[in-house]
Amino acid sequence: RNVLHWFRSKDLRQEDNSALAAASQKAKEGKGSLLTMYLFSPKDMDWHGTSPARTDFILQSLQLLKDQLKEKHIPLACVTAEERAEKTDAIMDFARKHDVSHIYANIEYEVDELRRDIKVAKHVQNEQDLSFELLHDQTVVKPGELTTGSGGPHKVFTPYHKAWLALLKDEPNLLDVQPSPEANDKKAAQEFKDLFDSKVPALPESKQYPPEQDQGKLRKLWPAGHEAGMNRLLDFLKEKVKNYAKHRSEPALDPSSRLSPYLASGIIGIRETLSKAKEHNDGENFDEGDPSIDSWVREIVFREFYRQMMVVTPHNAMNLPQNLKFDFVQWENDEEGWKKWYEGKTGVPFIDAGMRQLNAEAYMHNRLRMNTSSYLRTNLLIDYRKGERYFAENLVDWDLSNNTQGWEPSHTVFNPVSQAEKCDKNGDYIRKWVPELKDVQGKAIFAPHERLGKKEFEKLGYPYPHVDFKESKDRALSRYKSDLADA
Ligand code: FAD
Repeated sequence: RNVLHWFRSKDLRQEDNSALAAASQKAKEGKGSLLTMYLFSPKDMDWHGTSPARTDFILQSLQLLKDQLKEKHIPLACVTAEERAEKTDAIMDFARKHDVSHIYANIEYEVDELRRDIKVAKHVQNEQDLSFELLHDQTVVKPGELTTGSGGPHKVFTPYHKAWLALLKDEPNLLDVQPSPEANDKKAAQEFKDLFDSKVPALPESKQYPPEQDQGKLRKLWPAGHEAGMNRLLDFLKEKVKNYAKHRSEPALDPSSRLSPYLASGIIGIRETLSKAKEHNDGENFDEGDPSIDSWVREIVFREFYRQMMVVTPHNAMNLPQNLKFDFVQWENDEEGWKKWYEGKTGVPFIDAGMRQLNAEAYMHNRLRMNTSSYLRTNLLIDYRKGERYFAENLVDWDLSNNTQGWEPSHTVFNPVSQAEKCDKNGDYIRKWVPELKDVQGKAIFAPHERLGKKEFEKLGYPYPHVDFKESKDRALSRYKSDLADA
């Protein structure tokens, strides 16, 4: 009998894939064929707000994966389930039709996805001789595994990071890369012809690129598939990483790896990523080698931590803040401010540059994500969930854990002028993304309405700030204070 691996939008690769490796092993033991499928649900993507760029990146990567697996006579069937609720039936029908004895998949930790898997598990229980197995794959250390002295899961990053490094020292085999699946017998090519012939869906109507994004350019910026992701990782580790510790917060230098879309959709595996980083660290542990590699790996540990937090505070995946008190904040209904924010026309150059990068590249540097999110939820006092959703609808690297936790409301208010002075010293990032300011010299670029004469400023065709920084900061902090106290 045959074994099925069910690909989700977070493990789209054949290399270093835990459930796929287990499925391959099971097929070999039972002398059956290994089959794979991807369930495409446009409504599911609409529900999550998945961006055109990410949808396209996933579909392109699927095509490459399908071609790669075909060389091993392993079919990848793309099955469309229009409605989310149809997914369970689609999986069960597939299993019955193709004489499947075992279904394997990698766990997704979000509430909706867990519910879907529970539903499938219940259906599987009613079938004879069918099993459904879920494996951990997204992180090196399983969410929930690292606990404090009192036995509860770590909820604070620094001690989590310390414990993570210590565990990796004790158990270096956590980085062992999972084997790629073995080839099916050649006869599978005929037996499963319909699956080999199934087409990867085209980009749905609702996911066409918006006019400000050039599809050709974006595909070049984010080339699909495992090979492209690994090349990007290796190039980064060879050169760019050297400057990471010192310059990672300077967006004009484009100092980071830009691997987030590949990690978010599982185009490259986390063990293969970190084992390559370890090789470049001369095999040293991540707190004992090259400080630049260590500081980069620390960001990956944030990714691991955020998955742990998603498991520990599941309401975070249900549109609620980790700190539930923030659900009681009375947000402003400032339609004009909202539009200015997402169009990059707030009149605050650093914020506008970040939003324009997002709108053009489907990506934004981390420092700008921190500043633009702070600006929306404090200075504009707009419900942070609107911004969170806007990011989902526009990022190529959208990832529910990283995004919701990046957006988690707090009392921190970033000052976008001093942030720009520190992180964009020469104003080059601003000049790149806000062409109205390209000829502004010196420190005026950071706050042109204050630092240029009125006439000179008005000639630029750049807006005055929508809100005064100090007043809006005070308004947010006092609103938070009173609303959280009442909560
Ligand atoms: P690098 O600096 O090269 O980091 C390597 C990898 O580590 C990243 O690809 C990512 O997987 C992980 N990483 C880096 N920084 C963080 C971080 N702060 N938190 C968690 N993981 C991190 N990241 C996403 O992948 N998807 C999102 O939807 C997302 N939304 C965010 C929203 C906000 C408001 C904020 C503040 C951060 C968000 N991040 C998100 C985290 C971070 O900004 C991006 O991962 C990073 O900018 C991606 O660029 P890079 O791959 O070049 O990162």
